Amino acid sequence: MRVTVVGCSGSFPGPDSPASCYLVEADGFRLVLDLGNGALGHLQRYVGLFDVDAVCLSHLHPDHCLDMCPYWVVRTYAPYGARPRIPVYGPAGTAHRLALASGLDPAPGMTGAFDFLTLSPGHCKIGPFKVTTDHVNHPVETFGFRIEHAGRVLAYSGDTGQTDVLCELARSADVVLCEASFLEGQDLRAGLHLTGRQAAEHAARAGAGQLVLTHLVPWNDPAATLAEATSVFLGPVSLAAAGKVLDVGD
Ligand SMILES: [Zn+2]
Repeated sequence: MRVTVVGCSGSFPGPDSPASCYLVEADGFRLVLDLGNGALGHLQRYVGLFDVDAVCLSHLHPDHCLDMCPYWVVRTYAPYGARPRIPVYGPAGTAHRLALASGLDPAPGMTGAFDFLTLSPGHCKIGPFKVTTDHVNHPVETFGFRIEHAGRVLAYSGDTGQTDVLCELARSADVVLCEASFLEGQDLRAGLHLTGRQAAEHAARAGAGQLVLTHLVPWNDPAATLAEATSVFLGPVSLAAAGKVLDVGD
């Protein structure tokens, strides 16, 4: 399983990265995990515009889903006709929200381009991946993910405050892609985001192999986020960066 960080900027795009977007590939299948603002541009560096097989949205904050609006334009008005529908997994209300964001009548909204499927806690199969989802700790309905393929495991936190759910999703995972939006010492709001230290504590409790810190907010010092995490998690820790490729399990 190969993961390309398309965008890892937290809450809004930064000078060097779009907002959240990850391309997860195995057996020729291409799953886009979140499509935040700015991500559709960079995504084209790694996959053809029409070669995405499925999209999964962790939640409906703009920095995780807003580039679905231009992607609907791409698939609907493509030269030589609209492209076949692809599945889009997201929280309840995804189709309605994205239609409004694009100024479309919700009926039919974007359903000509996307087959909207509502996520709920549990297991599902997306292409070659076994995907486990559960609710994490964020002000709107938000999912964390455990994605398994060929005995390897990627866990993705989505946006979350502290939660045991993340430890379960990341249990013995090869790689945990975990948000680290806050720095220790800031005025932290509960149930919103994690610090680098808290991300590391969750990864350590999960017994994960490797921690990659993501959702890095441009006004923070990324070196400080990394330092917080390396003081807690004893395995390999790194910062996500646009274009970074993770070979999960290799
Ligand atoms: Zn969010």
